[in-house]
Amino acid sequence: MAKKTLDKNSFELDLSTDELLRYSRQINLAQVGEEGQRRLKEARVLCIGAGGLGSPAALYLAAAGIGTIGIVDQDTVDLSNLHRQLLHGTNDVGHEKTDSARARLLAINPTIAVETYTTRLSADNAVELIRNYDIIVDGSDNLPTRYLSSDVCVWERKPNIYGSVHQFEGQASLFAPHLGGPCYRCLFPEPPPPEAIPSCAEAGVLGVVPGLIGIIQALEAIKLIIGTGDNLLGRLLHVDALTLRFREFNIRRDPNCPVCGESPVITEPINYEQFCNRSNGSKVRGISATQLHEMISGGQKVALVDVREPFEFEIARIPNSQLIPLGSIPERLTEIPRTETTVVMCKTGVRSARAIAFLCGEGFENLVNLEGGLDAWREEVDPTLRKY
Ligand code: ZN
Repeated sequence: MAKKTLDKNSFELDLSTDELLRYSRQINLAQVGEEGQRRLKEARVLCIGAGGLGSPAALYLAAAGIGTIGIVDQDTVDLSNLHRQLLHGTNDVGHEKTDSARARLLAINPTIAVETYTTRLSADNAVELIRNYDIIVDGSDNLPTRYLSSDVCVWERKPNIYGSVHQFEGQASLFAPHLGGPCYRCLFPEPPPPEAIPSCAEAGVLGVVPGLIGIIQALEAIKLIIGTGDNLLGRLLHVDALTLRFREFNIRRDPNCPVCGESPVITEPINYEQFCNRSNGSKVRGISATQLHEMISGGQKVALVDVREPFEFEIARIPNSQLIPLGSIPERLTEIPRTETTVVMCKTGVRSARAIAFLCGEGFENLVNLEGGLDAWREEVDPTLRKY
C-alpha cells in the first residue's frame, strides 16, 4: 500500500481523447466541466465492502471516472448475495468478491485503477488503508466495522459517507467532523444490544433498497470531489421504499463525543467486537453447533426450540426441533420446557438470542443459544441441510 502522491499538474492527469468522449455528457455540465472531470480522475475513493451498498456505489464511481477505487472485502460470493450485489454474477459464486469487483469495474471503465484488499477492515489495518484514500464510502454490514471506519475517518480527517439498510428502509449521511458535521458516534454513542440488530440474513432486504442508498453514497462522493451542490453534512436522509417517502433529520456534532468531541478519550482503535457485543445486562449463554451435536449424540436430554418462521422451518430444520416462531412466543410460553436444558435456535443466532432475552424476563433459566444458528449447524455438522 504505497502512498501515491497526486500532482495536479502531472501529465498523466490530462484527459485523453477517449476520456473526453466517455465523460462528455457529464463534462457538459457546468458544475463538472473538464476541471471537475480531472478532479474525479485524481480522486481516490475507498469502498468498505463489495456487498449491497458497495456494489452500486462502486459501479457508479467507476463509470463516473473516479481515478482510483479501493475495495476492501474478505467475503466470497454467495448465491443469496446476487439479488442486490450487482458487482458479482452467477459465475462468481464461491469466488472472492474482490476478484469479481475488480473485473466488473474494469470492464465498465478500463481507464481507472482498482485496488483490492481481500481482508476484513480491522483495527490493525484500518488506519493505513483509510489514510491512503481521499473519501471513504462505508458499505459495511456490521456495527464493529462501522464504528471502526467512522473513528478512523475522524482521526485521519476523511469524509465518511455512511449508508445502511433494513428490509424496505435505508438511510445515508456524510460524517465529517473536520468539515463541521457529526461522526457516527455522535449519533449512536452506544451500540444497541446485539440481539436487537438483525442482519440482512435475518431480516431480509429488498435488493433495490441498498441499490438506492449505495447510489446516493456514490453521488455524495462525486459532489464532494467536484465541490458542488449541498451534501448530507449534518443531515440524516431516511427513505422508506414501501411508501417511497424521503425524510430528513438534522443531526449535530456532540461536543461530548468520545472521538470527535472537545476532549476526545478514544484516540486510537479499540476492540470493536467487544464494544459492540456488550449486551444490556442480559447474559445469553451460548453453545456451538459442534457442542450441541456432541450433546445429542452422547444421549444428553435436551429440548430444541426453533424460533424461525414456518416457511424457513419447511426449508430446513434440525431433527426433533419444535417450531415456535419468535412472534408467537408470548402466547406459547407453556410449550417451552422449564426444567430441562433448552437450546433455542434460528438462522444465524440473532433472533434466538432475542427470544432468550425475553424468556429470561419471564423466569426461564435453562436456555442456551445455538451460536451461529442453522447456518453454523450446516457448516459444522450437517452440510446436507438446505441453504436459504
Ligand atoms: Zn462524534
